[in-house]
Amino acid sequence: MTEHLAVHGEQVIDGTGAAPIPDGMVLIEEGRIRDLGRASRLTLPAGTEVVEAGGTVMPGLVNAHTHCSIIPGLGDQTGQMKQGPLPSGLRAVGNMRRELGSGVTTARIMGEEHYLDIEMRRAIEGGLIPGPRLLCCGVHLTSSHGHGRALTTTDGVDGMRQRVRQNVAMGCDWIKLFITGGVSSVGAALEAYTYTREEIRAACEEAHRAGRRVAAHAHGGPGIRVALEEGVDTIEHGALLSDDDVELLKDLGRFLVGTFAILYHPDGIERADRHNRAIWEKVVALREQEAERFRKILASGVRYAVGTDSMHGLMWFEMATLVRFGVDPMDAVRAGTAWAAEACSVAGTTGTLERGKSADVLAVDGDPLKEIEALARPRLVLKGGVRFIPSPW
Ligand SMILES: [Zn+2]
Repeated sequence: MTEHLAVHGEQVIDGTGAAPIPDGMVLIEEGRIRDLGRASRLTLPAGTEVVEAGGTVMPGLVNAHTHCSIIPGLGDQTGQMKQGPLPSGLRAVGNMRRELGSGVTTARIMGEEHYLDIEMRRAIEGGLIPGPRLLCCGVHLTSSHGHGRALTTTDGVDGMRQRVRQNVAMGCDWIKLFITGGVSSVGAALEAYTYTREEIRAACEEAHRAGRRVAAHAHGGPGIRVALEEGVDTIEHGALLSDDDVELLKDLGRFLVGTFAILYHPDGIERADRHNRAIWEKVVALREQEAERFRKILASGVRYAVGTDSMHGLMWFEMATLVRFGVDPMDAVRAGTAWAAEACSVAGTTGTLERGKSADVLAVDGDPLKEIEALARPRLVLKGGVRFIPSPW
């Protein structure tokens, strides 16, 4: 007998941008969405188990940019990545559990050593540990003087091609490049441009020929334009994008993935690196510049999504920050669901509640369209129709 499950809430937000369905219900059959609508209008097959979730039923979250092994509050993020697979893996087990428990049903992992993300995906899919569905980029590509370098660096056109090929062979879905400097390291400045055009082109060519897409860590400066011209599919962070960069992103229809919690939340860079003057000065300066820039960027019509960049469990904070920056709450919800799925190239299977898609469902206590922080109160998480019930360890 086919098993059926129905999730009933005060409303259903399907993520397509359509108005919420009051007294809504989502009917699930064999891990997929079979139907949705007003509860009174749905015909439930005999034996359907109805879960009274209350609150708002919506698509599971898609964390468009995170990592498995990092806990930002412990400080020295690249130092954490330099550790061996065991300590990194132990942190990752808790992190992935936390992601799923907060409603994240799909996460794009933006760089690990040891192919830790591939191992985590295997463990999650094998039922050994709870976690979201992972999109992996394996070992990220950064130059010998670049941001994000831990154990592995990659230089030169041939080196880029080889690393991409190795990542593809290991089963990666995405390729991640570090194009500019970053906040959580003392090295390259935010607008420094650490790969040549030829190196970026080689990585994009190899990735695209293998049917993989390319994400670039880039805050600002000339590297953004070069990255986009050479085929990079998503720009990560983008705190200092120029108006011209934003126009180019729009013209090309590419996504900007914002990551705010790491910069603004007290458990982010602030917790551990407040006393590291070189990092803290970057944080203070960037908080001011980014808030001002992002209000304009988000209103410009550019396509965007959000990710927590290792701030596990804080997708709600990312979406709440969008609202703080002037985004309509429905768009903020979409930026963490439908649009994030588009940015990650998985919109065909997840990101919205539509017939035939994977039953990736989050129910929250309250109405995020009236109070965006309702997203911080998950009641029920289903990944592929399977219920995740947090246990108290
Ligand atoms: Zn990152």
